[in-house]
Amino acid sequence: MIYFDNASTTIPSKEVLEEFTYFSNNFYANANSVHSLGMKSESMVARIKENILKELKLNSSYDIIFTSGATESNNLAIRGYVLKYLSRGRQIITTKIEHESVLNVFKDLENKGFIVKYLDVTDDGKINLNELKKLMNTETILVSIMGVNNEVGNIFNLEEVKNLISIYPKCKFHSDLVQAVGKSNINFSLLDMFTLSGHKIHGLKGIGVLVKKKSIDLEPIIYGGEQQNNYRSGTLDLPNIAAFNVALKIALKNYAIHKNKIKEIHDYLINSLKNNDEIEINSRINWCPYIVSFSLKSKKASVVIEALSNEGIYVNGVSACNSKKLAPSYVLQAFKKDLNISENSIRISLSNENSLLEAEVFINTLNKVLKEIKEG
Ligand code: PMP
Repeated sequence: MIYFDNASTTIPSKEVLEEFTYFSNNFYANANSVHSLGMKSESMVARIKENILKELKLNSSYDIIFTSGATESNNLAIRGYVLKYLSRGRQIITTKIEHESVLNVFKDLENKGFIVKYLDVTDDGKINLNELKKLMNTETILVSIMGVNNEVGNIFNLEEVKNLISIYPKCKFHSDLVQAVGKSNINFSLLDMFTLSGHKIHGLKGIGVLVKKKSIDLEPIIYGGEQQNNYRSGTLDLPNIAAFNVALKIALKNYAIHKNKIKEIHDYLINSLKNNDEIEINSRINWCPYIVSFSLKSKKASVVIEALSNEGIYVNGVSACNSKKLAPSYVLQAFKKDLNISENSIRISLSNENSLLEAEVFINTLNKVLKEIKEG
């Protein structure tokens, strides 16, 4: 089996599963219960938060909110922030290639009367800083720009964005770092808020993190027992929180160990795919090495993905509408790719566990499959 779909989700690591089991057996008490077992859980949550901030090289001016995943963290950051600070201004800015858990919140806020701007992306996967500069004004209260794009792997330069928006003190900076953490170098302290997800870094599904500056207040999007300072009600999932802590630590450590190997695999994939006339490569050689996106010029991506799957190789396309037809990728359309290329993309997404040998098997199998499949 060759698992090349790590941007969709990763295989939980042994250490993560062990930590989850240990905490399930030993720290099952509700962190909000007033008895001593509850207090033990509560102090463990505090200790884990400190650990996470330390791993991210952040000081105590930041706080952590645990959620059900990055989708919820993005919703809470964006909606929670703008609803809290309604009187400060009405303009919010993002890019055209954010994950739907950002884009669809922006669209909803647009429908509710906010002035929403969607930044273009340049051919080489950058933000046009002049466009951003022109759009920024005293009404702008939030800019949300991802670190690494989940479909094609371009990396946005968050430092340049930060420099540009910092002349507007009312404007806060959020980033969806789901695909960036453990896959690129990030200075987390550039940000006012950012989002992480457990299952993208060999943690478990159902745990997300929103890191935010303590000075920022948020309107809750979930109401209930007022846990986590009322930012996110619901009983804390301590075993999953502990598992996230382990996953993050390992992800950051493994990035330093494996990044050269991943770059070698990435470059091999790009160079091999380049030799095939039937293929158009969407990712660039200097983008995040964990993601390689390419499109088929005259064959259906869904058919090729299925054929690869029959050979035990797992890659992904863009969100499947049904088994035979893929929706055109709005990300590729933002890169001005034509409809056929946008409809027939395949994404390889690597983890530190993958090897060059697997990439070689992939290329050979892909070439075989492409010969066997008729144009369609
Ligand atoms: N943001 C990005 C960039 C993602 O890739 C994903 C997952 N595809 C999400 C957000 C949503 O993450 P989750 O599954 O944890 O809600």
